[in-house]
Amino acid sequence: MADTPQISLTPAGAPAQATAPNGDPELAEEVHETIIIGSGPAGLTAAIYAARASLAPILIEGVLDGGPTGGQLTLTTDVENFPGFADGVMGPELIQNMRDQAARFGTRFITEDVTSVDLTADPKTLTTASGLQLRARSLIIATGAKPRRLEVPGEDELWGSGVSACATCDGFFFRDKHVIVVGGGDSAMEEAMFLTKFASKVTVVHRRDQLRASVIMQERAFANERVEFAFNATVSEITGDGGLMNGVVLTDTVTGEQRTLAADGLFLAIGHIPNTWLFDDVLETDEEGYLVVDEPSTATNTPGVFACGDVMDHTYRQAVTAAGTGCRAAMDAERWLAGGGGVTAVAPAVEPATVGS
Ligand code: NAP
Repeated sequence: MADTPQISLTPAGAPAQATAPNGDPELAEEVHETIIIGSGPAGLTAAIYAARASLAPILIEGVLDGGPTGGQLTLTTDVENFPGFADGVMGPELIQNMRDQAARFGTRFITEDVTSVDLTADPKTLTTASGLQLRARSLIIATGAKPRRLEVPGEDELWGSGVSACATCDGFFFRDKHVIVVGGGDSAMEEAMFLTKFASKVTVVHRRDQLRASVIMQERAFANERVEFAFNATVSEITGDGGLMNGVVLTDTVTGEQRTLAADGLFLAIGHIPNTWLFDDVLETDEEGYLVVDEPSTATNTPGVFACGDVMDHTYRQAVTAAGTGCRAAMDAERWLAGGGGVTAVAPAVEPATVGS
């Protein structure tokens, strides 16, 4: 993996005219057509489409909860599978480009966390950490999902320098290397098998002696000569040398014994946590906590509220698929507004002319 790029996503690094001063009381005065929460590829693509549809969107890019401003792409280095970049692009640069594009068409940004929402009335109300209250006829949720972390020593320091949660994004960098995959579910099996395209050996570390993955996925992984298993084991520390990962400390969950295992990379596949806590008890979620939308639309169970990106997708989780759902959410919001959605806050429509008059 390349060095972490130095690209600022703070307001200072963004076009000055696009970022509203936090707490700007003027923003509280109007009822906005649409507000987007989330600044990853889904939220920014929704902003590009909503802005070009003259909806004058406000995009709220959180700073603390749910991950970094700009989403998970800002934690990766080279992105080589986003269409249109033949030579690849750095994750933060890709996000900054999307942000600049959204700003060019008039998106206004607020850089702080949303702390509560009221979706029960029209217009919908959002409150930010500084106490700013914003009202909108429609809301696009693009708050993403966080990969579950091990929370062991070395994990934070070596994130992006050997430690990753996306084999599709980073597997390529481990040609002829030994990598570890942590987890025993379908994702772990899928990641392990994908990684054998590059790595010379993949060790799956699982905390129990039985996998959670479906039988067919287990069978494929067991049949793959490059995949080995360390059962009844947890990673209790990730070690590095010169800023790059060089191994792990494994703890036997039965005996408590510890041993070291040299490895060049570690991929977490222990599940994701969708960032939905703002909408608990209001929006429908599936059994894994992801927002449920009325496919093929992005409409949630609350009129005027749309969801896109990883907060509603636990299958694909790619930047390009998130961007695609962001486009869909903006188009859905535009059509819902054009059809009179959330009209209680605006003037009544003019009576249509009588046919034949
Ligand atoms: P998952 O099924 O919840 O599996 C998570 C795995 O991580 C489990 O084996 C769990 O161990 C382990 N784990 C959780 N927390 C841990 C921790 N703190 N330390 C160590 N291990 C930990 O998640 P998933 O594999 O991401 O799958 C999510 C859903 O997507 C599932 O419904 C899955 O079937 C689906 N999916 C399907 C496919 C496919 O069909 N191609 C591919 C990927 C995902 P325990 O087993 O001990 O709980």
